[in-house]
Amino acid sequence: MYLFIHSFKSCQTSNIIYALTCPCGQFDYTGESGYSLDERIQVHRYHGNRIMYECFMGARNFKLIYPNVVKSADTLSKDGMRLYRHSTECPTAIQIFLDENPQYWRFVPLLNDDADQMDRNPYIASRDVPHGDDLRSDKDVRELLANLPPPPANYRFSQRQYHQQYSFFQARRELKAMPNMHLDLYNAKVIAVLPDNGSMVLRRIIEALFITHAETKLNSAGCLVKCDHDVATGGSHGNTVWCKDLVRRPVPAFTGSSDMNNVVVKWERKD
Ligand SMILES: [Zn+2]
Repeated sequence: MYLFIHSFKSCQTSNIIYALTCPCGQFDYTGESGYSLDERIQVHRYHGNRIMYECFMGARNFKLIYPNVVKSADTLSKDGMRLYRHSTECPTAIQIFLDENPQYWRFVPLLNDDADQMDRNPYIASRDVPHGDDLRSDKDVRELLANLPPPPANYRFSQRQYHQQYSFFQARRELKAMPNMHLDLYNAKVIAVLPDNGSMVLRRIIEALFITHAETKLNSAGCLVKCDHDVATGGSHGNTVWCKDLVRRPVPAFTGSSDMNNVVVKWERKD
């Protein structure tokens, strides 16, 4: 027996079924937890922002940035979840991430015409040269740049962006200017509360019923009938170019969260 909630005022109740909706409003996820929504959403915030960050840095750069870190099986599993992969393809979610973390605009390709126009301005093309005794070598910086995700067709990086990317990696800013890992990339709400003595098995059965009934497109598993999620998500946004129509808004205050440092220790180290 479980209780449907229409107006749930507390996020502290545990043993719950919950729903996450992408801010684009088109994609949902259903989850279950023996903890409260407040506690559970912290995990989603962390992985959502981590995977967005790693996507901007380029998947092939992970080993170069974190040479002594090996991702755990759980982290690798999270990497493959539709919930998080969708955010990296969804312009609405990417816009929210960039509004909060403007240091990653240099990794957003421009339309060729816009990049050409920017490159004609010699002032803009001047290079910001970082200082310090912990600078990355030219060879390593170039390897990181070569591993960045390729821009979509008709898009490219401007010379200014290239210089900004170079300075970013040279000064190791990928480790010093981490994204805000507390940013909400989903709208969350509790949709059912189970009795305190409700088991995990019960939660998962009810979760599966919700997933099946609502046909939530961001669940990687749990649907009780045959459904083709890959077709349903269609690469999430079909042929939409992920960087099209992103708006560079007035720069908000960036808090420069360093929470990722705490998270790195959770990963398994080789040595
Ligand atoms: Zn979306």
